[in-house]
Amino acid sequence: MRTILIVGNWKMNKTASEAAAFVHEIVHRLPASPAVEYVIAPPFTALESVRAALGSSSAIHLGAQNLYWEDRGAYTGEISAPMLKDLGCRYVILGHSERRTLFGEQDDGIQKKLRAALAHELNPILCIGESFSQRKDGKTEEVLQKQLHGALAGLSLHSVAAITVAYEPVWAIGTGTAATTDQAVSAHRAIRTFLAETWSATIAESSRILYGGSVTPQNIDTLLQSDQIDGALIGGACLQADSFVTIANVAQSIGVKR
Ligand code: PEP
Repeated sequence: MRTILIVGNWKMNKTASEAAAFVHEIVHRLPASPAVEYVIAPPFTALESVRAALGSSSAIHLGAQNLYWEDRGAYTGEISAPMLKDLGCRYVILGHSERRTLFGEQDDGIQKKLRAALAHELNPILCIGESFSQRKDGKTEEVLQKQLHGALAGLSLHSVAAITVAYEPVWAIGTGTAATTDQAVSAHRAIRTFLAETWSATIAESSRILYGGSVTPQNIDTLLQSDQIDGALIGGACLQADSFVTIANVAQSIGVKR
């Protein structure tokens, strides 16, 4: 069984003190049960304050939005996996489309980051997704396979088992136009087929695949109705306490029935 995972990607939003205030506002309002796992991925500068605000017994895990693959050295401005681990991070988002398009990240670098995360027992959330024109040209599956292959080629079964994939169509991120459940399900099926053919049916069955792109309190219910969708990676709708708590409540009510 795949536990639902709800990940809040705050992107470059909230100072350290704003982040702590937000966590204090939500931490006792989130329904806590093993049916749903939560991750908050604040900016690096707020990891420490979010960790302190979460306290030791929280059901919310800490995540980072990126890392650099070397452990230490002359890499001005970068943050390494051991640094994130030391701050209490359990997850790290890698290959987000904003990193790919705005900062030029390529599959080979994303693979190095994945390997660094795994070497330090951070759970990677690998983001993949097609652009609008790629979808229009019927290339969605091809793009997903290429991104998966580029990031995961050569990894062991054990490593791939630790990775969560987030299917995030680029045209849906931050646009207010989410994929339909059918579109997401068909992409998730293609991802599972690729994992089964490249690694094993067991890996394909046990891997969590999240949907991301304009998820809101209004559409989360429909998306999670499909058991192909194991949770969501959420940007804008996670920045307001009420909307994050509403999404968590919906996920919880679906999670306990799965
Ligand atoms: C994201 O940041 O990965 C994302 C999906 O953003 P939004 O929910 O705002 O579309």
